[in-house]
Amino acid sequence: MQQREWRQIEDWIEKQQIGRWQAEASMAEFTSWRIGGPARLMVWPETEEKCAALLQYCSEQGAALRFLGSGTNLLVADEGVEAVVVHTGTLRRMEWSDKEVLAGAGLPLAQLSRAAADRSLKGLEFAIGIPGSLGGALVMNAGAYDGQMSDLVLEVRVMDKTGQTRVLTEQELGYSYRESRLKHTDLLILSGRLQLKAGNQEESLALMKEYLEARRQKQPLELPNGGSVFRNPSGGGAGRYIEQAGLKGLQIGKAQISPKHANFIVNLGGAKAAEVRALMDRAQKEVAEKFGVILESEVICWR
Ligand SMILES: Cc1cc2nc3c(=O)[nH]c(=O)nc-3n(C[C@H](O)[C@H](O)[C@H](O)COP(=O)(O)OP(=O)(O)OC[C@H]3O[C@@H](n4cnc5c(N)ncnc54)[C@H](O)[C@@H]3O)c2cc1C
Repeated sequence: MQQREWRQIEDWIEKQQIGRWQAEASMAEFTSWRIGGPARLMVWPETEEKCAALLQYCSEQGAALRFLGSGTNLLVADEGVEAVVVHTGTLRRMEWSDKEVLAGAGLPLAQLSRAAADRSLKGLEFAIGIPGSLGGALVMNAGAYDGQMSDLVLEVRVMDKTGQTRVLTEQELGYSYRESRLKHTDLLILSGRLQLKAGNQEESLALMKEYLEARRQKQPLELPNGGSVFRNPSGGGAGRYIEQAGLKGLQIGKAQISPKHANFIVNLGGAKAAEVRALMDRAQKEVAEKFGVILESEVICWR
């Protein structure tokens, strides 16, 4: 698209009061890896209605759309993305009714996990240390410690690029290990309805404390990272294979396979997406050669 056409979109967003927006927004500021070039336009639509208007208008104008949660599972190209990035951080409703919650896509998962424990509801303790938004977690079927989103999801409300909304049931979402149909569509997730179980606040809080401590021990949380880089292949942890291939601590530029946990790649300061990708390629190649195991990316790459 031409500069003139982008300006037209900016003017429209301003005039329709869609919400805050930023041109050439550095994606490094919006990802946990602190990596990534500029997004042509980042927009924070104030309401679902404004999301609908924005999606419809951008589609009519032929502008590419991307959806962003907390940016904790994203590797964005150094060149950035020529797209309208819809930031979901403003969609933060949280409505409880008995053991069910209707929560907005932009709600931090950890906040939802704590809110459930505060109500003596169990089921979301596993999510306490997952730094993403609910929307991202619903796409990725995020999970840890034997729990995953699909255990709780009743339904998900989505919006298509014409601004129409519809509700998808758990059966329609095709969940499996870190996988969902949502990953392969261009639907914006607006909210999710989750079912929890009656529990005990103290027990939930104790479990959450244990999980957070285990993460601090095992994961390189002191440096910017994108969480687990590869999905665990059947028959063992991805980190174990990478370690056994002798790659722990390998550095390319300012990116490094973490000496603490080999399935994490850390940014030592100013790392490039290309450097992370080079480490990923190297790990995939050597693990395949040495063990005949194919490592599949868990992180989503934006190019
Ligand atoms: C330190 C650390 C630890 C982690 N631990 C875990 C873990 O234990 N288990 C686990 O499963 N993951 C883990 N992750 C990965 C990550 O936190 C999860 O995958 C999380 O669910 C991603 O959510 P997000 O909001 O950050 O998504 P983003 O990174 O913003 O986006 C991820 C994908 O989802 C899409 N998306 C996001 N929101 C929406 C929406 N509303 N509508 C449509 N598409 C959307 C994006 O377009 C993108 O394709 C970890 C990450 C880090 C950095």
